[in-house]
Amino acid sequence: MPDFGSSHKHNTKTQQARPQSANHSTSHGHARTHASGHPRVSQPKINAYSEFKKEHKTNYSRRTFSKAAVALPFALLAAGGLGGAFWWTHRAVAAEIDGKQLEVPNGSSIKDLVKQGFASPKYGNLVSVSGDVLEEGKGKCYTVSINGHDLGDKFDDYRLVAGDKIAFTNGDDEEEPHQSDKTPIPYKWERAKGAGAVGFVSEWGKPGYSEKVVGNITGLAIDRGVVQEPVNRVLTYMNVEPKDGEKLVALTFDDGPSHYTTQLLDILDQKNAKVTFFDIGENIQHNLEICKDALAKGHQVAMHSLHHPDMTKLSDERMIEEIDTTKQMLASGDIKTNCLRAPYGAFSKHNWEVLSGRITSLIGWNLDTLDWKKPGSDKIVEKACSNMHPGAIILCHAGGGTREQTVEAVPQIIDKWQAAGYKFVTVHQLLASDERFPKHVIEDSFDDLPQDQEEPEGFSAQAKK
Ligand SMILES: [Zn+2]
Repeated sequence: MPDFGSSHKHNTKTQQARPQSANHSTSHGHARTHASGHPRVSQPKINAYSEFKKEHKTNYSRRTFSKAAVALPFALLAAGGLGGAFWWTHRAVAAEIDGKQLEVPNGSSIKDLVKQGFASPKYGNLVSVSGDVLEEGKGKCYTVSINGHDLGDKFDDYRLVAGDKIAFTNGDDEEEPHQSDKTPIPYKWERAKGAGAVGFVSEWGKPGYSEKVVGNITGLAIDRGVVQEPVNRVLTYMNVEPKDGEKLVALTFDDGPSHYTTQLLDILDQKNAKVTFFDIGENIQHNLEICKDALAKGHQVAMHSLHHPDMTKLSDERMIEEIDTTKQMLASGDIKTNCLRAPYGAFSKHNWEVLSGRITSLIGWNLDTLDWKKPGSDKIVEKACSNMHPGAIILCHAGGGTREQTVEAVPQIIDKWQAAGYKFVTVHQLLASDERFPKHVIEDSFDDLPQDQEEPEGFSAQAKK
């Protein structure tokens, strides 16, 4: 479909450029009075003379000399003074123009400098869609940089002072107005090198486009091919490395909420440990108060799907339902989250393609306690403490079966890590300790995505809620 909007825009630009070049050509003639010195001299003359009259009026009337006899020498004096002022204002000063040291009149405008031949920048040309010159000098105005500040073509008000360094750049060519037909090229997904427990979109990417144009003046039809290459959307997985090796650890509980969650909340209070609960929608339905309690106590409450399916085997609609419905349930208790732990840790590239606008981070784990196998609390503690390192995420369960062993193991797990100098924090507190994670991941929000990045699909529908 022809893009009339863009060609209209282009049209306007060209029309704007034309009066500019018209201006430029008149400045070569003598039409522009402010560029010649005379009006500026006449202004101070009037002012000085009226000042002079004010100051000397009383004296005149009291003197007996004829007015003419007095006025003549004063007029000569005034003219001499104004001549001096003119000379001072327009004295030659040293300036650097396009790299050359020159003596130029102080107070010159940029167009004065060009008119008087101190520099010879050129306007661009009007060119066809195929790049042929249609009219020389009918393109964009030259641009100017003064003492390193780029003024572009907004230099009308500038007046030169001694020591200025002025550099001109020739104007760009202006393309003829044209009809444009753009075909979008979708971005591709790219998996960044590396692996780790936390998955997120590190670059949102941008679609590109190819373009066909027809020139309004020449009627030429040109296929420009790919004008804008798409930018890949990048998926990154990495482990958390807290800044300065701070000893932080995240204990996480899946499959709740349940009455085990309630027991855990008491233990965690006693141990002064903050943790993260990845809750299942089905369970949230009947235990929303437990979720609210956990949040109120400073823990993080995040998603673990609605029905605990293998997400990689679902239709797109079901995937979306698993996320959106769980979010809505939590939101009814004023709990906002876009953070997911996938059931079984299974999450495919296609899951990301469909859900990237709905989840800010996918949280895995570094230490699996295998508590769901009920191997005895000692074994659970052993697994949880097998590889202590800053940034570790430990996986436990607060639902999906009897969890007495887990409840028994947790105080010991906390004691051991705390004895080694570790602090238990939520997953988001852990992420915030590592500056490599982008803002939307740390803050669990899509609100402040950079302006130039493509909105993820589903962004407006759910993610902002
Ligand atoms: Zn689970």
